[in-house]
Amino acid sequence: MQSELYIDGQWVKPVKGGSFEVINPATEEVIHRAPAGTAEDVDIAVKAARRAFDIDGWPQKTGSQRAVHLRAIAEGIRTRQQELARLEVLDNGKPFPEADWDVADAAGCFDFYAGLAEQLDDNPEEPIALSDSRFTSKAVKEPIGVAGAIIPWNYPLLMAAWKVAPALAAGCTIVLKPAELTSLTALELGAIAEEAKLPPGVLNIVTGSGSVAGQAIIDHKGVDKLAFTGSGPVGSKIMATASRDIKRISLELGGKSPFVVFEDADIEQAVEWIMFGIFWNQGQVCSATSRVLVQEGIYDRLLHRLIEETKRITIGNGLDEGILLGPLVSKRQYEQVIAAIEAAKVAGATVACGGRRPEGFEKGYYLEPTVLTGAPLDSEAWREEIFGPVVCIQPFSDENEAIELANDSRFGLAAAVMSKDEVRAERVAAAFRAGIVWINCSQPTFTEAPWGGYKQSGIGRELGRWGLDNYLETKQITRFTSDEPW
Ligand code: NAD
Repeated sequence: MQSELYIDGQWVKPVKGGSFEVINPATEEVIHRAPAGTAEDVDIAVKAARRAFDIDGWPQKTGSQRAVHLRAIAEGIRTRQQELARLEVLDNGKPFPEADWDVADAAGCFDFYAGLAEQLDDNPEEPIALSDSRFTSKAVKEPIGVAGAIIPWNYPLLMAAWKVAPALAAGCTIVLKPAELTSLTALELGAIAEEAKLPPGVLNIVTGSGSVAGQAIIDHKGVDKLAFTGSGPVGSKIMATASRDIKRISLELGGKSPFVVFEDADIEQAVEWIMFGIFWNQGQVCSATSRVLVQEGIYDRLLHRLIEETKRITIGNGLDEGILLGPLVSKRQYEQVIAAIEAAKVAGATVACGGRRPEGFEKGYYLEPTVLTGAPLDSEAWREEIFGPVVCIQPFSDENEAIELANDSRFGLAAAVMSKDEVRAERVAAAFRAGIVWINCSQPTFTEAPWGGYKQSGIGRELGRWGLDNYLETKQITRFTSDEPW
């Protein structure tokens, strides 16, 4: 486990020498001390990133040259896959197979953006047809500059990959700040980048708290673009701060995503996707399908099967075999989720199953997977993100009502529909006000497809070619070509 910051290609102690505890949420044991970066460290990191961008020539490298480093990082991640997955479990609590999957996805993300970096060489400019024939014009894409990336704790390495890979592919340099709850794999990414011979200053990793290290990144005048994944309130703050210097921003925020099941859907499949959609990663997923809407005719049968299957989920330490649900990430998160369940009860909801600490667990932030029925439509449980293994379920009568209930939210990250009627499924998918829509499934995420939210779920799109655009400016170059006088 790394104990120093990765800045300008070097491992360095924080200027002020601070550190903070890394706690294993399954055992509540302190397993490490991570370096606590402050504004001084961020300043050094941003200056290194500036030099790498402005002077050392990272943006002037061809896309293919940058791709060599990206592919080497992907390879480095794969070489250490088991070790990284284990660290992720120790830090975040998720079951090992999920962590293993995330690490593989992170490697895939670097490979994917290596491919897009190469494509930048193939299409360096786009000719523009002008209405005035005395001129010719073209558009070129150029990297924005120094990116500051701030990420959450739910997918520590994968969220780092979603930011670092496209930024480097585009030719930007970057300062990355992982969430203080999960610093371990982000720091390992520094070691992997070093082995991949990434030039100094291109990737800098400063661990530390949001209010100190994070705030210093968003405040820094040397940062041209802020890429953030996390909560709405911090996203708002970033947007407000970025407005001062007109920094470019992309925000991936929270959600309260609906899952609509029509009467013609296969109940067993629906139950499987609902459980994947809300219990994967202990429900700490921005796109979690946390509001389930089921058509009246199958509501009772589906609820019965959902409760039966939810009770079968194996809970335990993510490093143990056969575990499907690990602990929540932290004591604070555990207490917040318990408080949300208690508030739901007070508001009139019924706990159909779960809602408590499972028996036999003395240590660890474990919570039984929870199904809530009858949460009033104006209650926080129905409207606000709980970010835990808690699903609210309601019946609906017809398609119009389902769409109205699904869209009645300040969020618009994801939505899902299950129906055997393809025409209806397409109609409902079109009506959803959400950036990610799943038909007859929930949650599968692909590096090639755009990811991001409508409404208060964020601004901009990550992944796919849209993710690369996040780190590119568009420049128009127009030439006067006529022999006639202007
Ligand atoms: P958070 O907003 O508390 O923290 C996210 C990051 O922001 C952390 O690195 C934190 O240190 C930093 N931060 C906190 N205060 C800051 C400040 N003042 N200035 C700069 N940085 C600051 O969120 P979290 O609790 O880590 O993550 C959970 C939230 O993230 C949920 O709301 C979830 O929906 C959202 N999320 C969204 C997506 C998505 O793709 N849309 C993915 C994962 C998580």
